[in-house]
Amino acid sequence: MPDPAQHPLTGGLFSSPVPPGAGWPGDPATAETPVAATPAQVRRLAKGADGIRELDARISVCRACPRLVEWRESVATEGRRAAFADQPYWGRPGPSFGDPDAEVLVVGLAPAANGTNRTGRMFTGDRSGDWLYAALHRGGYASQPTSVASGDGLVLTGLRIVATVRCAPPANKPTTEEKATCAPWLDRDLELSEPRLRSMLALGSIAWDAALGAARRRGWLVPRPKPTFGHGAEVILRTATGRPVRLVGSYHVSQQNTFTHKLTEAMLDDVIARL
Ligand code: SF4
Repeated sequence: MPDPAQHPLTGGLFSSPVPPGAGWPGDPATAETPVAATPAQVRRLAKGADGIRELDARISVCRACPRLVEWRESVATEGRRAAFADQPYWGRPGPSFGDPDAEVLVVGLAPAANGTNRTGRMFTGDRSGDWLYAALHRGGYASQPTSVASGDGLVLTGLRIVATVRCAPPANKPTTEEKATCAPWLDRDLELSEPRLRSMLALGSIAWDAALGAARRRGWLVPRPKPTFGHGAEVILRTATGRPVRLVGSYHVSQQNTFTHKLTEAMLDDVIARL
């Protein structure tokens, strides 16, 4: 384990990975938060989380996918990017971020190795986050257009960011098994949000499939054949009580899409306006 290093905003000293309850800004967990070490424990602890805060805490200490735990911690210790080598790395799963009473969910794919895995906040510390938070600010959901680091004062209102997989995967590619292991965290996020939920934005086809899968497992009415993902694709899902929830698709805000102009600011603003 590298020597403790200073948080870039608060100056607090932290080991990498950051121990739960050590005072990291926004850390939802404590040293007592139960840790899931198997897929069965993920299912049990997700189901038993009695609110968003406890769910976030349990997600943030999960260790159920050996390959991803090994990868996220190795990046956080000996694999840091040179530009961030003097910073502590979160090195834990990325909990959901935003308003616990959200009416809108943004579903992402997985944390980036030097982004969320460093900062502990979804879409924070890399270019994809610059795009997403600027758009959420324009759309009226974010208190500021940037998300630099946990502790920077950013507040989301009416919207929460969740993910298909919560740990940074090698090459940004989680396996089918890892997606299945992590799914109960998303299922519970959806379940806890359901009473207020109006719409969801899926960033990329994997998030689209994850949102549809979670909705089906919740017993929602999902059109068959499965709605096809595309930028601007839209489908109305119905909860078990018949309430409509809009699912909108967007190309992912990855550099691969934004640098090549496959996704423009106007395109992103358009889908956010539909939420
Ligand atoms: S990907 Fe999900 S289930 Fe797997 S270790 Fe990370 S948080 Fe746990």
